[in-house]
Amino acid sequence: MGSSALPVSLRSKLQKARALSQWQTVSYNLNILRHIIFALFILGIVRRSFYFLRGHGILGSISVFYHALHKRLYRIFLSLPGIRSKVDKKIASASKELEEKLVGNQPDTNRYRKLPKEPWTPEQLRTELAQLTNMKRTRWEEGKVSGAVYHGGNELLDIQAEAMKLFSVSNPIHADVFPAVRKMEAEVVAMVLSMFNAPEHAAGATTSGGTESILMACLSARNKARAERRVTAPEMIVPSTAHAAFHKAGQYFGIKVHLVYCPEPTYTVPIAKVRRLINPNTILLVGSAPNYPHGNVDDIPTISRLALQYKIPLHVDCCLGSFLMPCLAKAGFPSPYADEGGFDFKLPGVTSISVDTHKYGFAPKGNSCILYRNKSLRQYQYFISPDWSGGVYGSPSIAGSRAGALIAGAWASMMAVGEKGYIDATHKIVSTRITIQNAIKEHPVLKETLAVMGDPPVSVIAFESIDKAIDIYDIADAMSAKGWHLNSVQNPPGLHVAVTLPMTKDGAVDNLIEDLVAVVRAEQERVVEAAKSGGALEKTRKKGRQAQLYGVAGSLPDKSIVERMVVAYLDTLYLA
Ligand SMILES: *Cc1c(COP(=O)(O)O)cnc(C)c1O
Repeated sequence: MGSSALPVSLRSKLQKARALSQWQTVSYNLNILRHIIFALFILGIVRRSFYFLRGHGILGSISVFYHALHKRLYRIFLSLPGIRSKVDKKIASASKELEEKLVGNQPDTNRYRKLPKEPWTPEQLRTELAQLTNMKRTRWEEGKVSGAVYHGGNELLDIQAEAMKLFSVSNPIHADVFPAVRKMEAEVVAMVLSMFNAPEHAAGATTSGGTESILMACLSARNKARAERRVTAPEMIVPSTAHAAFHKAGQYFGIKVHLVYCPEPTYTVPIAKVRRLINPNTILLVGSAPNYPHGNVDDIPTISRLALQYKIPLHVDCCLGSFLMPCLAKAGFPSPYADEGGFDFKLPGVTSISVDTHKYGFAPKGNSCILYRNKSLRQYQYFISPDWSGGVYGSPSIAGSRAGALIAGAWASMMAVGEKGYIDATHKIVSTRITIQNAIKEHPVLKETLAVMGDPPVSVIAFESIDKAIDIYDIADAMSAKGWHLNSVQNPPGLHVAVTLPMTKDGAVDNLIEDLVAVVRAEQERVVEAAKSGGALEKTRKKGRQAQLYGVAGSLPDKSIVERMVVAYLDTLYLA
C-alpha cells in the first residue's frame, strides 16, 4: 500500500516525521563533525602549547609572555596624546638631522630632478661624474671603514671595469643570445662549489647578494618541506647572531623564526636550545661561519648531527666568511672545527651554503652564490610559470632579467686573483684582525675597559665595554668623530670591525689602535673627573648618534620609536 492511499492528514504527518528524522540524522552528523573540529582545534592548541613550552621551558615561556605584555603596555603608553606629540617632535628633529648629514652637507653639488632637455656631451658627463666621486665622504682608501670595500685595488678595479664593459648589454635570461655569460655564471658556481668541498651532485646559482642567497635557501627549504612533508606552518631555528636576511626571509615567505639567544662567553648558538625548539614544522636549521656581529663561528659539526638526526636541512651562512674561510688553513691559521669536519659540505648534515663573492671574493657589488648539496634542493628555489600569456616562463631566483656584466665582473675577479691571491689576502686580513685583538687583550689602557666578544677566527672582531661607567656607544661616537666608520652591534652592546684589504695597508691598523687608545683613555679620564666632582657622569656625556639610537630609544621595550627612525632614514635616502 503506497502512502498515497493514506488519509491526507496522516500522510503529511508521516512526511513531516520522515523529514524530521532526516534532519535529525543530518544534525546528529553535523554535531559529531562539530565535536571533531572542536577536538582538532583544541588538539592544535595543546600541540602548539606543548612545543612552545618544550622549546622555551616554563620560565622562558613566562618571560616571553611578560615581555610581550610589557611591550604592548608600552605601545599604549606611547600612543597617549601628550606622549605621542612629544615622540613625533623627536622623530621630526632626528629626521632633520639625518637630512642635514646625508643630503645637506654637499653645498657645491648640483641637483637634477628632471631629464636634461638637451643630451649632455660626454665631456660634460665626465666632469660631473668626477665631481660626484669627490663628494665629501669617509676615506675607505685609508682603511678607515669597517667592511664595505673589500679589495679596492686599482688593478683589480680596472680589470673588473673592462670585463663589465665587454658584457654590459648581456642578460643571462637570454642564454642563447649571450652564451658567454651563461658559461661564466656556471663556472663561477662550479669554482665556488669546489672551495666548499661540494659532493659530486652539488649545485648552485649566482644571486644579487648575500640577502638573496639566504632568501633562496629559506625558500628552497620551505618548498621542500611543503612538497615532501606537507608542512603548512613552516618554522626555522635561527641564532640571534645570524644575519637579518633570515628575518627578511621569514617575513617574505611566511616562515616563523625561532630566535635562539647566543650568550657569552662563546656568543655562539647553544645547541641544546636549538634541539628543544625542533618540532614537526621545523623546515631549516641555521648556523653562521662566521656571524656578522662578532665574527664567531657556530658549532656547525654539532648542528649538522642534529640536522641529520631530525632529517632537517641545515643552512650555513658563509656570506661574510666567503673566500677567507676555505683559505684559513692554507694561509697558516687555525680553521674552525677542523678536527670535527669543519663547516662546509664535508659535514653530511649541511645542505646549503651562502657565499658572498662580492665580499672576500672581491667581485663587484651585486654578486653572491647559493650552493646546495644536490640539484633537487636547487630546484625548490626555481620559479616556473608554464601558462603565462607572455610564454612559458622560468627563472632561477628572484630577478627576471639580470646583469650579465656583474657575472663577467665576478668571473674576471676570481680569475685575476686566483687561489694564490685569496690565500695571500687571507693572510693579510686575518693577521690584521689578530693585531687588533692582541691590542685589546694586552694594551694597558684598552684591556682595562674593553673585552673581545668570543673567539673570532677570521676577519671580524667585536668588543664590548667591561667598565660599567663607560658606554661602548660613546666610544663608537668618539671613533666616528676621528673619521672611523666602525659598526655598532646590540644585545649585548658592542663595537664591530670587519677588516678588509684597505685596512691591512701600512699604518692603517696602527692608526686605528692609536685612536682607540686615545678615545678610551679620554673616557676613563672623564669617569675619574666625574667621580671627583661628585657623580656628573651623565652630564658630561656627549651622546652622539650611536649613543642616542642605542641608548634611550634602544632601551625602550617597544621598538616603535627605533622603527620610525629607520623609516625616516630610508625616506631620506630618496631625497633628490
Ligand atoms: C653581509 C652578510 C650577509 C648578506 O648581506 P648582503 O648585504 O645582502 O650581501 C649575510 N650574512 C652575513 C653574516 C653577512 O655578513
